[in-house]
Amino acid sequence: MNYQQISELESIYNSGGVGRRPVALVRAKGARLWDSEGHEYIDCTAAHGWANVGHSHPKVTAAIQAQLETLVASPESSYNDQRAMWMHELAQILERSLNWSGCHIHPSNSGTEAIEAALKLARFLTGKSKIVATMRAFHGRTMGALSLTWNPKYREPFEPLVPGVQHVTYNNIKAMAEVLDNQTAAVVVEIVQGEGGVHAGTTDYFQALRRLCDERDALLIVDEIQTGVGRTGKWLACEHHHLSPDIIAMGKSIGGGLQMGVTAWQKKIGCFKSGHHGSTFGGNPLVCAASRAVMQVMAEENLVERAAYLGRWMLDELQALPDKKIREVRGLGLMIGVELKGKVTPILQTLVERGVWAMPAGLNVLRLLPPLVIEKSDLEQAVTIIKEVLE
Ligand code: PLP
Repeated sequence: MNYQQISELESIYNSGGVGRRPVALVRAKGARLWDSEGHEYIDCTAAHGWANVGHSHPKVTAAIQAQLETLVASPESSYNDQRAMWMHELAQILERSLNWSGCHIHPSNSGTEAIEAALKLARFLTGKSKIVATMRAFHGRTMGALSLTWNPKYREPFEPLVPGVQHVTYNNIKAMAEVLDNQTAAVVVEIVQGEGGVHAGTTDYFQALRRLCDERDALLIVDEIQTGVGRTGKWLACEHHHLSPDIIAMGKSIGGGLQMGVTAWQKKIGCFKSGHHGSTFGGNPLVCAASRAVMQVMAEENLVERAAYLGRWMLDELQALPDKKIREVRGLGLMIGVELKGKVTPILQTLVERGVWAMPAGLNVLRLLPPLVIEKSDLEQAVTIIKEVLE
């Protein structure tokens, strides 16, 4: 099918909820994408952040193929070998990265579901209902997660949302201390706000937040859905700040392209009771096999270190650009935001025409999240094109 046929057919049925670019992507490998007309693009989005190990990594594909022929879906109401090993392997990473001694893991199917489970858990374990989130935060689009998401454009058409949620200025401990009280069940934060414009919090902030949560008996939930799986140059972005949250939410790249959300928490805070929470497809053997392959590839190919090294290089290159069109270039690892003086949409369009696939964060930030496996030469080519477009 060509672009016209694909777009006309899809346009008859699509929900209207997601704006589309006038391109039909039909194939991907590593950090390269191809459209229906045969045009090739360098992927600087990791497909909204899910492809940290790249598209169709041979080890992930082989693991999926093998598991497809064995057992695809098997709900958590019985045990399963793939899920058991997946939980064990993921727990090793979480316990090391977050300084946890023991954890529980709830697998679901998306980032927003991982946040929903975190909210339910926090309410259940604390017996309290108030939640504090931050301005510019993005935590998903289902009713609970949407209540934590800040942008009024996403929230207002669907109000009333879950009551008891307050938003305070990000990276501002005074603002947090004013609203966080003994009625607060949990605080939810991102280590780097992605959708909100690629803004990173500081070590002082996160350390003070940890102390405040302890003092006021509130749980600390960190959303690592976009920042996790090596994206920021650490397996989990919490590691940059030696932060040990109570609960984390993961998604996107942890499933290697299959649908997976993860809510994990320290064993010492307790867990759900039978019947409280679950999911038909969550933690199915197919996605667990894919996720195990992701963790293996991350280690074998040193992708965490690679993200740190390539990210540093890319940030330096982009920060050296003249400031005619640019307000600020910021980022952590391979999560980079270029805040422009004008709108980002025309820049994105020109980049697509020049073969670079990038994404926005809000109206004026160019967000760059290349797969961590991207060849240095591809990244150099992408950076050269971005520079030319921005100059
Ligand atoms: N939290 C963060 C930080 C995200 O970036 C996203 C998605 O972009 C979500 C939550 C929601 O994840 P999903 O789209 O898988 O539901």
